[in-house]
Amino acid sequence: MDSQMNLDKELKIYMQTIRFLDDSTDDYFYLYDLANDRIYFTEKICEKYPIVSRKEGILFSEWSKIVYAKDLKQLKYEINKIVSGKSDSHSMEYRLIDRSGSKNWVICRGTVLKRDDGTPGFLIGNVSEGAVRRELDSLTGLWNGEKFKEDMGCLKKDKGYLMILDIDNFKNINVKNGREFGNNLLKMVAMVLEEKTDYLTKLYRLDGDCFALNFPDKTKEAVIEFYNAVKEELKSYCTASAGAVAYSDGIGEDSGFLHQYAENALDRAKREGKNILAFFSSEDYQKSLDWIKLQDELKESVRHQCKGFSLRYQPQMRGKDFQVYGAEALLRYESATEGLVSPAKFIPILEQSGLICEVGNWVLKTAVKQCADWRKVLTDFHIGVNISYVQLCQDNITEMVLDTIKEAGIPGDALTLEVTESMELQDYSYFNKIFYEWKRHGIHIAIDDFGTGYSSLGYLKSIDVDEIKIDRCFVSRIYCNNYNYRLMSNIIKLAHSSQIQVCCEGVETEEELTSLQQLIPDFLQGFLFAKPYTKEELEKLYMCKESLEYQERVERERKLYQISTIEEKNVTAENERDEIVNIVEGMDEVIYVSDIDTYELYYMNSAARKLTGIYEYKGRKCYQVFQGRQLPCEYCNNCKLKNGKIQVWERDNLFFDKHFVIKDKLIPWNGKMARLEIAMDTDGR
Ligand code: C2E
Ligand code: CA
Ligand code: CA
Repeated sequence: MDSQMNLDKELKIYMQTIRFLDDSTDDYFYLYDLANDRIYFTEKICEKYPIVSRKEGILFSEWSKIVYAKDLKQLKYEINKIVSGKSDSHSMEYRLIDRSGSKNWVICRGTVLKRDDGTPGFLIGNVSEGAVRRELDSLTGLWNGEKFKEDMGCLKKDKGYLMILDIDNFKNINVKNGREFGNNLLKMVAMVLEEKTDYLTKLYRLDGDCFALNFPDKTKEAVIEFYNAVKEELKSYCTASAGAVAYSDGIGEDSGFLHQYAENALDRAKREGKNILAFFSSEDYQKSLDWIKLQDELKESVRHQCKGFSLRYQPQMRGKDFQVYGAEALLRYESATEGLVSPAKFIPILEQSGLICEVGNWVLKTAVKQCADWRKVLTDFHIGVNISYVQLCQDNITEMVLDTIKEAGIPGDALTLEVTESMELQDYSYFNKIFYEWKRHGIHIAIDDFGTGYSSLGYLKSIDVDEIKIDRCFVSRIYCNNYNYRLMSNIIKLAHSSQIQVCCEGVETEEELTSLQQLIPDFLQGFLFAKPYTKEELEKLYMCKESLEYQERVERERKLYQISTIEEKNVTAENERDEIVNIVEGMDEVIYVSDIDTYELYYMNSAARKLTGIYEYKGRKCYQVFQGRQLPCEYCNNCKLKNGKIQVWERDNLFFDKHFVIKDKLIPWNGKMARLEIAMDTDGR
């Protein structure tokens, strides 16, 4: 009785304090009698939340009813720790459902007041909405970037993952459909993320369309599963890319690094085509650090009149006679720290940073001026200049190019602009307008790396081009890949039928050249003829008739021309031979082909093989196989055939006991003339 009176007295005092505090702040204060499971609070909270304040307090189970279901498990766990004496204080963020059904983040704090015997007596503290409000994103109700930073600061880095998720092309969605739509989409994505996570996963909206998720308990597999579930749910509205990093990857480092790592993985997901989840890799991260370093250096170079940049010129030959047509200007960069850097490395950096515009202008001016100089010696010299789609998007690009050729004093048709086909070039009407203006001045437009990019054949219909440059990857496999050969043959025929010229790039070997020659490309380019040269090298090789280099080159090209045309004849002969075989193989007549000097059999059709019973005829003579003789027939007409006539005659064949009407004719066979005999069995008819 005594202790109950003490308790009541204590309660009264506490409640007075609570009331006082409640009146003076926005928070809700509470007192939780742990032994008797009674929670006491003032009326204030009941205005917003659907609970009643009773003099005798309410049970925890009643309080639970206004706690958002997903957070309840964790709350019970925390309270258990207090009741069992394992913890002396309470601090937890969770959501309460208000009278309108909305979720409200609160932070609930409390301190345990112990009894004299050391057991936990009361938990006293406050529920605060205000403290969390500044950490919430007003649009989605998720935690905001500030809170993210704060939480990252006290992360335990043993187990778990951080994920950054970003809606793909959100800017476009916003521009196309308006901000309101964009906002609704953000809310929807937030809702889906929320739906797929448990209490332990913390969800943040960083800036714009970027979300962060902290999974303190998840494995890699679970993270993948989560991402896939979200992707599936969102698929009819938008796609989203994500980057994730294991907390353990950030051990020993500032937690800011984890964020950077996840961002880095996200960048890769975007680069690799979007709508995917990528995990952090340290090599990849190093690569991007190198990228940034090189980008800074390139920026410096551009600021200093393109210092470090230079041009090489790779000659292009005419397909019909292997005479030089012109050269393609290729950009080089020499880094002060790393030496020569591959264009495959620095061109994408220039493009992504926009520096390509300035550098590209420099390339064009330098190359065109060089071409003007060279045209004084080789009057019909042409120059090819690569132009990136980023440059094509500059406002003044049309005039810039026209001014450049005018200034250098070369005609428009001395310049070919090489544009790489890409997704970005899909806006045909915009680019066609630019191309049209250039073409009016005679400038040629070539589609570079044709066949490697996006919907190649569609281009030919939609973009008005003068030339396609077929990429090395088709050229290099051509002579051992029938499919590629036919594909290329069709592309070239199609191009030619539309008056589009074709340049085959990356010709390295004589075999490639020979195969290509049959397709009659207009231009050839590749190491077999010439590598990219400096200005001086090119001048010595192509303009300085007295130099040894010049003469050696002319000789080499003459040989190449010879080889490829002789081979070409052989190949034609081979084709003819195959055609003959195709026709006669299934005919009823006995047909064979033999050497007119040695009588050796080159071929027997199936009827001949059947009649003679000889299937392995190679190396045997016609008179052995068909007449059973040791020596040529005395009536052999090979010499008469050499006069070029067709012989038709009739003979008994005693060896097979048959009577034949025979036609003989000379045909080309493997580059030689051979006897074709067709024997019709008159008895069999
Ligand atoms: P691209 O326009 O396709 O240029 C042809 C590339 O093939 C050049 O590489 C050239 O050196 C190489 N090549 C030529 N013949 C052969 C061969 O027989 N075998 C092999 N394997 N390769 C051969 P490079 O100079 O490294 O240039 C790479 C790419 O960088 C170019 O490809 C082009 O897309 C880009 N690029 C170069 N200069 C410029 C420029 O001034 N502006 C722009 N936007 N891009 C440029
Ligand atoms: Ca090119
Ligand atoms: Ca190319």
